[in-house]
Amino acid sequence: MDALIESQILALWEAGRDSHPIDRGLRALAVAMPGEAPRDIASRPVGWRTLALLRLRSATFGRRLAACADCPACGSAMAFDVDIAALLETLSAPPEDASARPVFDAHGAAWRLPSSHDQARAAHAADSGEALTLLLRACRLGVPDDALLPRGAALEEIEMRMEALDPAANIELSLRCADCAHEWLVALDADACLWDDISATALGLMLDVHRLARAYGWTETQVLALGPGRRAAYLDLADRETIS
Ligand SMILES: [Zn+2]
Repeated sequence: MDALIESQILALWEAGRDSHPIDRGLRALAVAMPGEAPRDIASRPVGWRTLALLRLRSATFGRRLAACADCPACGSAMAFDVDIAALLETLSAPPEDASARPVFDAHGAAWRLPSSHDQARAAHAADSGEALTLLLRACRLGVPDDALLPRGAALEEIEMRMEALDPAANIELSLRCADCAHEWLVALDADACLWDDISATALGLMLDVHRLARAYGWTETQVLALGPGRRAAYLDLADRETIS
C-alpha cells in the first residue's frame, strides 16, 4: 500500500470533514488504491477495510500509534502505544475476491459477512435495532426480506460465526491501568485512527501554507511543491524575519 501524499491528505480532509467515519475511511482507501473501483472496495468485508486502513495508516504516518484511554475503574488517563505492523501480523482478512468469500448456513438461511457498504448503511439507521435489522437482512441470502430475523441465542451464534470468519472486523486491545491494575478491552477504530492523523496533518499543512503565503506570497501548490525540508527552512527564515 502506497503512502498518501500531502495533496491527497488535504483533499481527503476537505472532502471528509462532514462525512461519517466509515465514509472517510472508504474515501481514503479509494485514493490510496486508484486501480480499484470504490464500489468494489466498499463491497469487501468490514475486517478487510480495517486491515487496509491500518496498512495505509502505517505507510503514511508510521507503524506506531499513540493513543490514550481513561481507566473505567479509577478514571486515570492512560497513554499507550500500538505497533500497527506487529498487530497486522496477527490478523488475517477474508478474501478480496467475492466468489471466495465465506458463506455459512445457520437457522434456515445462508449468511455472508457484512461489508463496509452494509455497515455504512446501518450506521445511518435511526437506532441500534434498525441498524441490526438492516445488517442482518443484507447478509441473509436466499430468504425473503420480510422473513423473521434470528434473535437471542440464534443471533448470538450467527454473530460469533461472523466474528470467527472476519476477526479483524472487531479488533480489541487489552489494556491494564498503571495506577489500579484494572484490565479492560478497548475497540480499535481504524477509521478514526487514520482520520485523526489526516486531520492533524492537513491542519498543520494549511498553517504552513498560511505562514509562507503571508511571508513570500506563494500559492498552496508552490508551498506543497517545496517538500518538508525546504518548507521548514523557509518557515524558520520567515520566523526570524518576523522576530527581527
Ligand atoms: Zn485504574
